[in-house]
Amino acid sequence: MYYSDKTIIYFDGEFLKSNEASIDLYGQTLHYGYGVFEGIRAYQTENGTKIFKAKEHYQRLKNSCELINIPFEFDVNDLIEKTYEVLNRNNFTNAYIRPLVFCSPNMSLTRPNQVSIMICAWEWGAYLGDNLLNITVSSYARPHPKSTKIEAKVCGHYVNSILAATEAKDKGFDEALLLDTDGFLAEGPGANLFFEKNGKLFTPKKGNILPGITRETVFDLCEEFGIEIEEGDFLPQDLENADGAFYCGTAAEIIGIKSLENKPFAKDWEGTFGKKIQVSYKNLVLERQFISL
Ligand code: PMP
Repeated sequence: MYYSDKTIIYFDGEFLKSNEASIDLYGQTLHYGYGVFEGIRAYQTENGTKIFKAKEHYQRLKNSCELINIPFEFDVNDLIEKTYEVLNRNNFTNAYIRPLVFCSPNMSLTRPNQVSIMICAWEWGAYLGDNLLNITVSSYARPHPKSTKIEAKVCGHYVNSILAATEAKDKGFDEALLLDTDGFLAEGPGANLFFEKNGKLFTPKKGNILPGITRETVFDLCEEFGIEIEEGDFLPQDLENADGAFYCGTAAEIIGIKSLENKPFAKDWEGTFGKKIQVSYKNLVLERQFISL
């Protein structure tokens, strides 16, 4: 599903077949989740294959490593070049790209001596599908910002995401919504939340969430459209009475949420800000002419 016997990855300075690459089994990333990754998308645009916000993603990879003391000895521009090469060698135009920084053998709870990087890519549709979502508030809270560097995209954080997403699906919902440890709205297992009420958008403030690159793009689009966004601490009750809502993330792009706990939002998705942003996000990543951002 993710690779074939022809798939090429970038691995520590080399381009290799993914089924010929190997890793050491005694690394901290495999045992402790102590590693960092990114999720990036490339699109076949009117100007050729383009990685959307490549610099922002690789800069976040670097920041994530630095935040958790994983040495980052790579050059962001070089990694972007290598990523285009991975796409090229696999003949990908539309693809999801997954860089992973992982640690050398070390079974102690100490800084790694050496780190590796691999960049792989595969063709992947919208992560949460194209249908509007019915979401449920998770029994799992997002990790407390005093227990980790929540703004870093750390491998181990995704145990929390997997628990929340599987719990939601087991209950018959499409996706989970996680609160922070104070009970305020935080985010989805792999996407940021926005909701609309009385002609305004609301989104959880930074501090208990992964501050998404797509979230930033939504801010830019809203500025262009003159849509006001309020960042803050919001409760599930605030969302319950919303006119509409959506999740946003690189893998999920912009996906509408139709209901919370089976209770539909007031507006039809087609009439929400979310729909307008969904369309303009697509135009932006596809570099369609009439978008000026
Ligand atoms: N929150 C979490 C927990 C995520 O995993 C993601 C996906 N990286 C996001 C938000 C959205 O981030 P981005 O828009 O940068 O992909």
